[in-house]
Amino acid sequence: MTELNNTTTPNVSETENSTPQPKKFQTLRGFQDLLPEFQDYYTMIKKAARHRGRQSGFKRITTPIMEETGVFSRSLGESSDVVRKEMFTMTSRSGKLMTLKPEATAGIMRAYIEHGMHTLPQPVQLYSIEPQFRYDRPQKGRFRQFHQVDFEVLGIKDPSVDAQMIHMAYKILEDLHIADRVDIQINSLGSAENRAEYIEALRDFFFDKKQHLSEDSQARLETNPLRILDSKDEDDQILVSMAPKLKDFLSEESKQYYETVKEYLRELEVPFYENEGLVRGLDYYCDTVFEIWDKSQGAQNAIGGGGRYDGLAELLGGQHTPAVGFAMGVERIVQHMKDAKITVPAKDKVHFFVAQLGEEGKKKALKITTNLRDLGYHAIGGMGKSSMKAQLKMADKSGARWAIILGEVEVRENKAILRDMHLGKQEILSLDNIEQAVIEKLNDSPDTYALGE
Ligand code: AMP
Repeated sequence: MTELNNTTTPNVSETENSTPQPKKFQTLRGFQDLLPEFQDYYTMIKKAARHRGRQSGFKRITTPIMEETGVFSRSLGESSDVVRKEMFTMTSRSGKLMTLKPEATAGIMRAYIEHGMHTLPQPVQLYSIEPQFRYDRPQKGRFRQFHQVDFEVLGIKDPSVDAQMIHMAYKILEDLHIADRVDIQINSLGSAENRAEYIEALRDFFFDKKQHLSEDSQARLETNPLRILDSKDEDDQILVSMAPKLKDFLSEESKQYYETVKEYLRELEVPFYENEGLVRGLDYYCDTVFEIWDKSQGAQNAIGGGGRYDGLAELLGGQHTPAVGFAMGVERIVQHMKDAKITVPAKDKVHFFVAQLGEEGKKKALKITTNLRDLGYHAIGGMGKSSMKAQLKMADKSGARWAIILGEVEVRENKAILRDMHLGKQEILSLDNIEQAVIEKLNDSPDTYALGE
């Protein structure tokens, strides 16, 4: 055993009177525990996403939580906020740069290329429900670890697919009863060439107006001029209103594509707003982009976003693969559901609490508890050595509907007391086949599942 260094060992005289308390740890800034109450919402969101995904032919994928940094820096663009400021990057022992995933698309495209999915029938439709990590400044609705449901269609370019994606995002929010709290914003960024020309035009326009831009936008002019368009600064916005418009730089093909996406959205009765300033912050987007905004707060606290990214596969060393996708933030959806007072089904309720006294009672309680579970009912008990009073308190706190009480006398007489925890009424039952008797009283369907179903 190594001796602790003197500087880290508390001096004996210091500890004579007060025993040093071990440090109480807390979650890191911007990280949070997803407690049981959150999980009920999360389960509902996952179900809605899975259900809508399956209906549309999506299959689930899980990519690693960490990738070689280049997967993200090359995809999202060196000038994007995410790559410049928000990545959790670390160096492996061998000196390789690795990053916790800040978003889902780049990793999924890396997987598509790595596994030769271009040889599968196209399009390949994948969804994921995963944690993401961004070294963002934590604030309301903004965390350093958050969760996204994400959908990607790879290997096809068709305005109908873009419209179907937006429709599906909308449907998921409808299923979760919050569609009326959001606005869908859409725009077209045109092709990579259209955008390059437009960025040049923006640079020219702002060349002699730089000093009038906010500090942030001055920096954006160097790194990512498109981002000036979605600046929140009022003076920036006045200048932006006079700047060249992206739509004037779209090729005929991109214009037509955008018109068709909108036509299909109308056909599908998805309400949307056109927003010329919507650029998304990442380099890989082209043509259709969209965001799902909070009706009252706009882009702040957006619920989701996505778009088309036809050039991404090539940036990651693959062959040309047109693709479209979107992600929605789970924490923000949950906040909306809470604000809208949506109740979520909580399946964690306890049906039976089995209380016991004595060795014999404990054995019986153990058997009854596990039998009830096997039959599909939620049962706890058969534990500890507390007094009957203390156990009944536990039963009450557990929210159990019924308590099955096995006192020493009852067990000796092959009986048990069944207590209705809502009404406080009790009755005596025989221990023979007691499980069936209490299930009849409960009158609730069992919570069973069959593997392979
Ligand atoms: P983005 O690709 O940045 O538009 O992210 C897509 C969605 O993920 C956003 O609309 C949010 O719902 C969610 N999201 C992004 N960043 C965070 C964050 N730091 N904390 C919580 N949710 C986030």
